[in-house]
Order: sequence, then C-alpha cells, then structure tokens
Amino acid sequence: MNLNIEIDSGSGFCNGVIRAVREAEKNLKKKQPLYSLGAIVHNNSELQRLEKEGLSIIDINTMGTMKEGTVLIRAHGEPPSTYALAKERGIELIDCTCPVVLKLQESIRNTYRQITERKNGGQIVIFGKENHAEVNGLVGQVDSDAAVVDIIQGGQPLFKGMEKIDFNRPVYIFSQTTKDPEEYGRICTHIRERMRNKEELHIFNTICRQVAGRHANLAGFAKRHDFILFVSGPDSSNGKVLYELCRSINSRSYHIQNVTEIDTSLFYSGASVGICGATSTPKWQLEEVAGYLSKL
Ligand code: SF4
Repeated sequence: MNLNIEIDSGSGFCNGVIRAVREAEKNLKKKQPLYSLGAIVHNNSELQRLEKEGLSIIDINTMGTMKEGTVLIRAHGEPPSTYALAKERGIELIDCTCPVVLKLQESIRNTYRQITERKNGGQIVIFGKENHAEVNGLVGQVDSDAAVVDIIQGGQPLFKGMEKIDFNRPVYIFSQTTKDPEEYGRICTHIRERMRNKEELHIFNTICRQVAGRHANLAGFAKRHDFILFVSGPDSSNGKVLYELCRSINSRSYHIQNVTEIDTSLFYSGASVGICGATSTPKWQLEEVAGYLSKL
C-alpha cells in the first residue's frame, strides 16, 4: 500500500518505568519468586512478557497474607502503610518509586507539616484520578487528609471533588505527575475564582517534565500526519490524556492496544501514519505496529 510511517521519537517508556522494568528483569534472573504490587506497567503486552519471565502481580490483600518473599514497588509509589506492612510480614521490598514521585511525596509531607502547625493553615488538594495508585500513595503521605479533585471532560468540563474544598481557607494544590498541564491550569483557575482570598491559592508545579514535554511534541506530531495510531493499555491514565490530545488535533487518531486492533481499511496509498504511545508503551510495541503497517 506504500504508507509513510513515522514513530514518534518522544514516545516509549518514561525514565521511571524504564528503571522499574530493568529492576524487575535484573531480579528475575535470580530465578526466585518475584512479585509486583500492582501492574508494574499499564500495558498488557509488556506485562505478559514479564509474567513469562516469572513476575507475578499481587494486590495489597495478598501481600498481607505473605510470610516472606520479595515484592517490587512500581514507579507510582506507595503510601507509608505499605512499607509498614512489609516490615510486619518480613517481606523484602525492591523500591522502584520514581525519584520524581518521591520528591512529590516529600513535598506534600513537608507542606502538610507546616500548615498543620499554623492556625487556619490550610488544606492539601491533589489534582489526580481518584484511586489511581500514585494518588493513593500521595494521599497516604498525609493520612488521607487531602481532597482529591479532577476534571471530567465532556461537552462541558466538570470539576469533580469541589465540595471537599473549604474555599475560605488557604489551598495548597499538587498535581499527579502524569496529568495534562492545561487541565491543571484550568482547575487551578476555577478554584481561585471560588476562593475568598485569591492570594491564598498556592500552586505546586508537580507535573513530570517528561510528560509535560510530550504534550507539546505530540501536538506537532499529530498535526503533521494523515492518521495517528496511538498505542497504550486501557488502564493507562497518561495514555488516555495523550490520546485525547492527539484526537483533539487530528480527528483521524485511533487508539489501539496492539496490531490486532488496526483497521487497515482506513488507509490509502501514500497516506502518512504517525505511531505514538504513552509513558507505559514500550518502544518494541511501536516498532511492531510500524513493521505490520510496512507489510500492507
Ligand atoms: S511519568 Fe515521570 S514521574 Fe511518572 S514515573 Fe514516569 S518519569 Fe516518573
């Protein structure tokens, strides 16, 4: 069919995921049981590959029944209660929390300490997806004394969780690392408009720089192709955000999990097809899609 195919050079695993997957591979070579607390990466193909090498995914309830063993903490991080449980059960942890997430957790802890020492010191607000692993880890830093807010996109954007904020008190807002920078700006503006004293909104710029950079690059990439194939797992929140970005710029953007979901009837000879993905999409999967298209 002669398609012009380009893989987005900025797509592929982010540094945090690369580090966690490398650690898993290194430890799997020891041929001892290795458990990951939650999916190490939100990508089924990559998970299946690691499972074949011996990685088992467990949840916190299963971890609570273990008597020993080695558990890997993924890049999203965990609340302090998980570390306490591991200690209690004699479980060895391989902590792959991304350094960017660790810094964010520390910043939330420090801010919380400072504001609780002051009278009417304010409240912690986290812009993120409720019950997402990273958000659970962040909320756990302050014993759940934080309001989680989000934006639900539709005809009209809906600001979720606003009832949890006391607009008469200072607000210290942090973002989950993989959120859309534009949406973060929008929700901060909305909160500021409702606050009694607008000077009392303190915004922490905590979106991961790798993610923020991808937004800008991907916008240009989506614009210059006739078609976009966006590859990511269904549970990747970063994947949802980046795919929506592509679709808002190029209406011929299609979300796929793997090559079996490609509708080849869409393409015509000479069309340009851009292939890109989330921070949890491995490079080999993007190359697999490119290889498939080149044979059409
Ligand atoms: S997106 Fe950024 S903060 Fe999150 S794991 Fe990847 S590198 Fe770390």
